[in-house]
Amino acid sequence: MSHFPKPFSRIGNPYLSSELKISEAMAQLKARGVKLDKCPRCTVQAWNVDLVEIPARSTLELMTVAPWLAPTNPDQGVISLLAIACGNCGYTMFHNLQLLGLK
Ligand SMILES: [Zn+2]
Repeated sequence: MSHFPKPFSRIGNPYLSSELKISEAMAQLKARGVKLDKCPRCTVQAWNVDLVEIPARSTLELMTVAPWLAPTNPDQGVISLLAIACGNCGYTMFHNLQLLGLK
């Protein structure tokens, strides 16, 4: 049985829906061949996960690269991400939830 990393939210325990979304995101990553191996910076395996939203604005006129930022998108201006951080050195990586079909 696989073991998912624990959320590292400072707000406390995430809501059940957030936990489910994290589980779904991790399952999507696994289905797409992404592995959570040792940290590429410190080689320790101590991953933590959280869901984050980052304000963003595309500077492109044609939104072919970032359709989630298009002016016609009601979620324009926010990128929803799965954040995966190393508990040892703090190295952090992000996966776009929209591209994983979870936004
Ligand atoms: Zn690390």
